[in-house]
Amino acid sequence: MLLSGKRGLIVGVANKRSLAWGIARAAAREGARLALSYQNERLRRNVDRLGGEIDGTWTLPLDVAVEEEIDAAARMVRERFGGLDFLVHAVAFALRSDLAGDYVSTSREGFRIAHDISAYSLTALTRRCAPMLEADGGGAVVTLSYLGGERAVPHYNVMGVAKAALEASVRYLAADLGPRGVRVNAISAGPAKTLAASGVAGIGSMVKHYREFAPLRAGTDPMEVGDAAVFLLSHLSRAVTGEVLHADSGFHALGATIPGV
Ligand code: NAD
Repeated sequence: MLLSGKRGLIVGVANKRSLAWGIARAAAREGARLALSYQNERLRRNVDRLGGEIDGTWTLPLDVAVEEEIDAAARMVRERFGGLDFLVHAVAFALRSDLAGDYVSTSREGFRIAHDISAYSLTALTRRCAPMLEADGGGAVVTLSYLGGERAVPHYNVMGVAKAALEASVRYLAADLGPRGVRVNAISAGPAKTLAASGVAGIGSMVKHYREFAPLRAGTDPMEVGDAAVFLLSHLSRAVTGEVLHADSGFHALGATIPGV
C-alpha cells in the first residue's frame, strides 16, 4: 500500500461525484487515514455520510474564504492527527455569470472572488499545513487544475485565469517549501460532470468532445484523478515537485483547437 499510515487532509468533497472524493477513495485504498472538510452546514451531511464509508475518517468545517476557519482547521488536524503527511486542495469557485459568454466582460469583483477562492486558498492552506508536513520528514500537497489555465477554453473564462495563478502558485510554493522537504504539485484533470463543473456553460459538450477526440477517447473518471494523486502523494514521486501532471486522456497534447461549445 502506497500511503500506509499517512495522514491526509482533503479539502473539496461536496458529493460522490467530486474529484476530491475520487482522491479520498484512492488514498484510503492505499492505506491513508483521512480528514475531509465540508464548506458549510448545507454540505456537511453529504460529507459526513461519505466519510462514514471509509473507516477512521473524520470531518471538519472549512470555508477557505475565512482565515479563522483555516487556522481552526489546522489546529483541529494537529489535535486529532498529531501531524499531517499530505494535503489535497480541490476547491474552485467563480460567479456563474462569469462562466458563460466572453472573458472580457469579467467584473472586478468576479475576478477577485475567483482568484481568492480558487487560487489564493492553496497558499493560505499550505502555509498553515507546512509546519506539520515538514515535521514528519516531509510531505506532499496536491491541487487540481484544468487546461483552461494554459489555453483559452470557451466559457472557462476567469476560472482559466485563476487556474493560471494556481499553477504559478504551485511552482512558487514548490520553490519555497522544497528545502523543507515538502513537495507541491498539481493535477490538470479533464472535464467531469461535477457540481462545480455544472456552473461552466457547455460542460456536457466538452465531455463529449474529449470522448471523441482525446487520444485515449475518454472523459474523466474521478478515480483516474485519484490514482494520479496517489502517485503524487506517495514516495514514488519523491523527485517530483512544482509539476502539473495532466490526467486528461492526453487531450492537452493535441494541437487542434477546442471548438465553441
Ligand atoms: P466539486 O463541486 O465536487 O468540488 C468543488 C469543491 O469546492 C466543493 O467541495 C466546494 O464545497 C468547494 N468550495 C468552493 N468554495 C469553497 C470555499 N469557499 N471553501 C471551501 N470549499 C469550497 O467539483 P470538482 O469538479 O470536483 O472540483 C474540484 C476541483 O477540481 C476544482 O479545483 C476544479 O476546478 C477542479 N477541476 C475540475 C474539473 C471538472 O471538469 N470537474 C476539471 C479539472 C479540474
